Amino acid sequence: MDVLENMEGGNVLNLSRMDLDSTAALEEMGEEMAAEETRQLLLSHNRLSVLPVGVAHFSNLLFLDVSSNRLAFLCDQILALTKLRTLIAKNNRLDESSVPKDLGKMCLEVVNFSGNRFEEVPPQLLELRRLRSLSLGGNRLKAIPPEIENLFSLELLYLGGNAITSIPPELASLPYLSYLVLCDNRIQGIPPQLAQMNSLRSLSLHNNLLMYLPREILNLVHLEELSLRGNPLVVRFVRDLTYDPPSLLELTGRIVKSRNFHYTPQNLPENLVRYLDSASKCPNPKCAGVYFDSCVRHIKFVDFCGKYRLPLMHYLCSPECFSPCSSSSQSDCDSEDEFNIPQHRMQKVLLG
Ligand SMILES: [Zn+2]
Repeated sequence: MDVLENMEGGNVLNLSRMDLDSTAALEEMGEEMAAEETRQLLLSHNRLSVLPVGVAHFSNLLFLDVSSNRLAFLCDQILALTKLRTLIAKNNRLDESSVPKDLGKMCLEVVNFSGNRFEEVPPQLLELRRLRSLSLGGNRLKAIPPEIENLFSLELLYLGGNAITSIPPELASLPYLSYLVLCDNRIQGIPPQLAQMNSLRSLSLHNNLLMYLPREILNLVHLEELSLRGNPLVVRFVRDLTYDPPSLLELTGRIVKSRNFHYTPQNLPENLVRYLDSASKCPNPKCAGVYFDSCVRHIKFVDFCGKYRLPLMHYLCSPECFSPCSSSSQSDCDSEDEFNIPQHRMQKVLLG
């Protein structure tokens, strides 16, 4: 049987698409083919419901692909594969209970569990400090755990096709993350901390529920790809902005700050001093105003790297205060004109 090939990366034992449903076959072959010499073991597209116990004989295995089987369980024998770097188990029936308790002690660098039944990211995966690539697309994930920040070496994170509603700011502390795929989820907003991800080259956000992006995203200078289609980033949402009337405290605070009234902890209660010190200056350079909790949300479209027109969120002091011009190449960008952006410019956002 021509199943043993010599490829770059060592001997490959290719047992994919062989209609295997018993583990005995693998054990016999494993002995025949000198399991210790095998570096890559391909078992995809079979009918395996359990990972063959005999896999433990492949002590020098670097790469294991058990995709497209019926696996509901990864046995503890996989822990014997101390040299394993890549584990591909796409399109199976795995969930949180399928993963060995000590999987986090392995030295895995690439894990692909896409197309399974995970409702949360297994905590074992969050212990894999050498992990460079993690794919959990097409599962049933509702959240990204903050512990994702433990995956210090991560370069690629694929979480498309889940039911994720938000992005934890902890994601921004991954120093090497270059490819972040969060398409086809239910994400409603981007944390401004994402702008700290200096290594990010590709950000995939299409088919979510985004209504705007924080202006900090302009800081992602290394970004080469940004997909936003299928989000409600459209003009009608810009028109629907609401305005909460400011409180008397806020109005008084604004007067104190904008007229530069002198105040000290000696003549004002401490909580009022703290409140006054928390004033934000209106970003409009033509406006001397400040605001506290009550501000006007305003969406401004700007060019990003000359490639996209992005809707960005600004906070202004009052509805009468117009958004300042920012890094837009448009010469005229007061708020009325933003509602009349030519259709072809908008398409860049929606299809980008
Ligand atoms: Zn203002």
